[in-house]
Amino acid sequence: MIKVLKFGGSSLASGESFAKVKRIIEADQSRRVVVVSAPGKRFSGDTKITDLLYILHAHIKYNAPYTEVFEKIKDRYREIHASCGLKQDLETELINIEANLNKKTSVDYIVSRGEYLNARLMAEYLGYTFVDSADWLYFGYNGKVDFEKTYAALQHIMETHSKIVIPGFYGVNYHNNIKTFSRGGSDITGAIAAAAIDADMYENWTDVSGIMTVDPRIVENPKPIDKVTFSELRELSYMGAEVLHEETVFPVRSKNIPLYIKNTNDMNAPGTLIMESFEDDDKGTNFITGISGKKNYSIITVAKNRMNEELGYIRRTLEIFENLGVSIEHVPSSIDSFSIVVASSAIENCLHELISKINERLAPDSVQIVNEVSLIAIVGRKLADNIGIAGKIFTALGENDINIRMIEQGADEINIIIGVNDTDYKKAIKVLYDLANN
Ligand code: ASP
Repeated sequence: MIKVLKFGGSSLASGESFAKVKRIIEADQSRRVVVVSAPGKRFSGDTKITDLLYILHAHIKYNAPYTEVFEKIKDRYREIHASCGLKQDLETELINIEANLNKKTSVDYIVSRGEYLNARLMAEYLGYTFVDSADWLYFGYNGKVDFEKTYAALQHIMETHSKIVIPGFYGVNYHNNIKTFSRGGSDITGAIAAAAIDADMYENWTDVSGIMTVDPRIVENPKPIDKVTFSELRELSYMGAEVLHEETVFPVRSKNIPLYIKNTNDMNAPGTLIMESFEDDDKGTNFITGISGKKNYSIITVAKNRMNEELGYIRRTLEIFENLGVSIEHVPSSIDSFSIVVASSAIENCLHELISKINERLAPDSVQIVNEVSLIAIVGRKLADNIGIAGKIFTALGENDINIRMIEQGADEINIIIGVNDTDYKKAIKVLYDLANN
């Protein structure tokens, strides 16, 4: 059994948090591959090391004195080094990094040092081997990860090392220069490591007890989701739930590796388990897995009597959107009319052109636009097996005077999307959350 663990910056912000992480790792012998972020915020108002490194880069690039900001960065690592009683020569490591700093030093190299140093310290603290991501995580010519080469390199390393610590967030490009992922990218490093070695589990340790059923800014202390499938997660994140870095899911999903979201500050909390499917699912309870949503959509409704008899009517309308570069979210339809749902921001600069082209080419009886609409996704793999759920949802919303402007159900029946006025957005989410939990 082998588990890959990734710890986020908030779990590694100080010597004290290092101690918590060590307890977690030592509680389970199979926790053998550890991926770390750079130290995050210790308190609200504090600055993440990665942000300080971006500032450091800007200072160097524009010839501004950078000693002060670099000292701040060094002090964070010195605190961890001292508080964990480490013996490695941190000062020489810092001097070596400083020796590489000049106007031409790439931003990727500079910001990657955040995870690099943290991984070095964590490796000694755990008694694990430090494995630099520059030695196994390869980007190809197209700027994407070269999975074949990367997987083979890490497998090779694991043949001789059984317990390792890896810095997240970066690898090397085809010129062997450091290249980082986008922000939050250590999640991806963890997923790639797990997939490379066919791990039994990928545990992603953060500062919350899993993925919440609903946005905690709308419902106070919502329940975490205990189990969610990859497809459900995709629906929830597409509609705004902030969970993991988007690219995280692919490597573990392709190898069917269970992904756990766990809380470093509450190691025994169950967290959220993400898998392709769950064999032990009971049909009856918790028919809603999660609810997420976004504001500011527009619904454009095109109506024409006997539209169903005109071949290609919808296609020709959609083509107008395509030619204007407007991405379409949903197309609910009836016999003589259909609606096109788009993000309002996508049409704000081309609305007049869009409407006049529709009028010109399709001669509809009417084109109506409703703005300030929110879309809410009610996601649940058990929706399909339960009769009357849609009825319950609409009754609950109706009883609370919430006008539903649009309804759509995905073909795989794992989600129901409703459109409500932006002014009803929060209220609707609260009503749906109560419905899901009663
Ligand atoms: N340290 C990087 C960031 O703050 C990467 C990560 O933490 O995932 O974005």
